Parts: sequence; C-alpha cells; structure tokens
Amino acid sequence: MKAYLIIIGDEVLSGITLDTNSNYIAKELDNIGISVIRISTIPDEDNAIKHELTKVFNSDADFIFTTGGLGPTKDDKTKQAIADFLSDTLVLHQPSLDYITDIYCRNGREMNELTRNQAMVPSRSEVMINRYGTAPVLWTEKDNKILINLPGVPYETRAMMTEFIIPKIKKGFNLPYIIRRSLVVVDFPESELALALRCWEDDLPEFITLSYLPSEARIELRLTAKGNNREELEYFLLQEINKLPVIIGKRLISTQTPDIQEVIAGFLKKNHLTFCVAESLTGGTISQKITSVSGSSAYYKGGITSYSVEAKENILHIPSEIIRTYTVVSEEVAKEMAERSAKLFNADIAVSTTGVAGPNSDEYNNPVGLVYIGLYFQKETFVKKYFYPDLSRNEIITRISNKALEMLYFKIIENE
Ligand code: AMP
Ligand code: MG
Repeated sequence: MKAYLIIIGDEVLSGITLDTNSNYIAKELDNIGISVIRISTIPDEDNAIKHELTKVFNSDADFIFTTGGLGPTKDDKTKQAIADFLSDTLVLHQPSLDYITDIYCRNGREMNELTRNQAMVPSRSEVMINRYGTAPVLWTEKDNKILINLPGVPYETRAMMTEFIIPKIKKGFNLPYIIRRSLVVVDFPESELALALRCWEDDLPEFITLSYLPSEARIELRLTAKGNNREELEYFLLQEINKLPVIIGKRLISTQTPDIQEVIAGFLKKNHLTFCVAESLTGGTISQKITSVSGSSAYYKGGITSYSVEAKENILHIPSEIIRTYTVVSEEVAKEMAERSAKLFNADIAVSTTGVAGPNSDEYNNPVGLVYIGLYFQKETFVKKYFYPDLSRNEIITRISNKALEMLYFKIIENE
C-alpha cells in the first residue's frame, strides 16, 4: 500500500522549522510495509491545501497524511480546508471539548472561544483525542482512501502515530513484511563496487531491492525484501548476503553488522586484547564510537584527548624536541602518541590522530586537511597520512575517526 504525506506550515516553507514529522511518519510507515510515494510541503493556505488534497485523491495513494495547521488560531487553516474539500461542515465534538475543558480547569485557566475551536471537527471524520496536546487527530475515509490529519508539534505527532495510527492501520489492513539488512563496505569507490556487484545485483529476486548509500567514504548497501512470508524473506536475504564476501572480500566489514566497532569488539574480546586511543583533532570521537558498543569495558582501557602541545608533552610524555623538530602534525608525533598511550594505559593496541581540521592552518603552517593516524598494534607501529583539503572541519573529524577504525580493522583482518 502507498502513502502520500502533506506537510502543512508556513514555518516549514520559510526554513524556520525543520520538518521532522515527515521523516518520522515515513519511517513508521516503512516499518509496516507502506511505501511513501511522495512528500510535499505546502503553506497554511486554504487553496493550497484543497488543491493538494484534490491532487492526492487522484493519485494511487491509499493513505494521505497531513501534519500541521490543526491549532486554534487564524493561521491554522487545515480543518476548515478539509471540511470544504470533503463538502462537509465543522461540528462540535463533545468528548474533545470535555477533554480540553478538563485540561483548562486543571491548569486553572479559562476556556475561550479559540480553545473551543479545537473541538470543532468535520462531521464525517473519526476523532482521536490527542492526550499529548489539544488538537484532535482526524481519520476520514473517502473514495477508498484514508485521510489522517495530525498536529504539527512533533512530539504529539510521534505519540499519536505510535499509539493510535500505526496499530489501527495494522489491525485494519493486510500489510506485507519489509525486512532490511545493512552492510557496510569501506575503501571501495561506489562505481567500482557497482561494477563488481553487477551480476549479483541483476540476479537478485524481484522482491529484493538494493540501495547504495554512500557517506563519509563508506558505502552502506541496503537490501530490502518485501513480501508476505517473513521466514521466506529472511531466508532469501541471507542467501544473497552470503554471496557477498566472495565478491567484495575484506572491504565488506561483516555480513552480521554494519558497525566496524562491533567487528573490532569481537576481535579484541576473542583474542583477549586491550585497546586505547590518543586523540588530537578527533577530540574524543573515536573513544565515543568504541564506547557505544555495550561491553566495551572488557577491552577498552580509555582514551586521552591530548589536544594541546602541553597535553602531548605532559600527559603522554612526548619529548618536546620531537614536537619542535617535526611539528605536532607529523608522522613522528602520531607514532609517539600511539606508542606512549599504549604504554600509559598498558594496552595491546592504540590508535592516535593528529591533524589540522581547519578552517585555519596551525601555528606550524601545516595545511588544513593534513592528518596522520597512528596505530600501535602488538608492538609494531604504523602511521598513515591523509590529506582532505576540501572537507569542512566536522567532515574531516568524522572521516578521520572512521579511517582510524578502518586502519585497525584491516590490521585485524591481516592477523586473523
Ligand atoms: P501547528 O500545528 O502547525 O500550529 O504547529 C505547531 C508547532 O509544531 C510549530 O511550532 C511548528 O514549528 C511545529 N511544526 C509544525 N510542522 C512541523 C513539521 N513538519 N516538523 C517539525 N515541526 C513542525
Ligand atoms: Mg503551523
């Protein structure tokens, strides 16, 4: 089945409010096997709303969702526009009014004519009282389609979707299963990967689709299987996934998890090895990724964010001559950071990062985007140089944190 989302709000169109409702609704629908075919954003204007509803009622969508404009003020036009579109009138919904009055009384406030408007609904709509706010949610059937009107406030929309709308749809309709599996491939340009996967992709059963989702120099391969038999979908997905290690090789992180830190965790636990980090430009990002895995205390000894030269000298005990001779962003300092943090934490493995994230170059005139990653791995140290002059500060930090974990991952694979 298909859904169309209409986001109503001048504030969204003007860029003041970031539309998070469509993202939430789309994900929830996707989870229950309903495909969102379009999302449109329109102003709080009577004609725009009616025009959009007419268009959508002529489309092949089965469900039409709107959010926004259900409030009591003049700028909230959705309910009247819906009533007009349905050739209906707004009538008082007594349970909603009772509920709103009760809230007002409890808060010691007076009801006024505008709050009473909240309880006005199209006469033919089914009303769901919104216990997270005051604007009721509407469910209306017309021409074999279902129109669902939700409030703009994200918290209310999320709660009403989860508690009422999704269960009601699941109960009333026979929906397919959608199963997704994500795999992550590192160090493989997208077009080369697509060529390598061409035959496999061409042979995928027609109920399995593949998306390439590249970000931060990694590619997520997302497989989606849709059908009515859950076990069968799981079985065929697994069959297809199991063919991938042979085609992609070591650059496929794992067939079990898309998280490199999970793979690293598995290796460290299995081999009873310990790990630590010394971060400069990544500022704790690697540490954060490692500790996001539950049970990381079994192998993670800790991290030092030795951002300043003093921290590198006084905590890690890197000789100042080394820093003076080679500068803080250098292969030598990356090596020292990795080795000395391993010693400090008494760890078998250590990763270090030092570089210039920008936007300005450092006091030694090292260019923005120059980074060294050090890896101390069971008594040997390796350093890799990276140069990303065109990335923003945050992009460099994310990319380097990923690269550091990838460097460790490839070393692990070599030793497996
Ligand atoms: P409304 O129901 O249109 O009066 O909106 C109430 C509040 O919800 C406003 O503060 C909006 O900024 C916010 N809001 C409305 N639509 C959205 C949306 N699509 N995503 C996130 N917030 C929204
Ligand atoms: Mg609004």
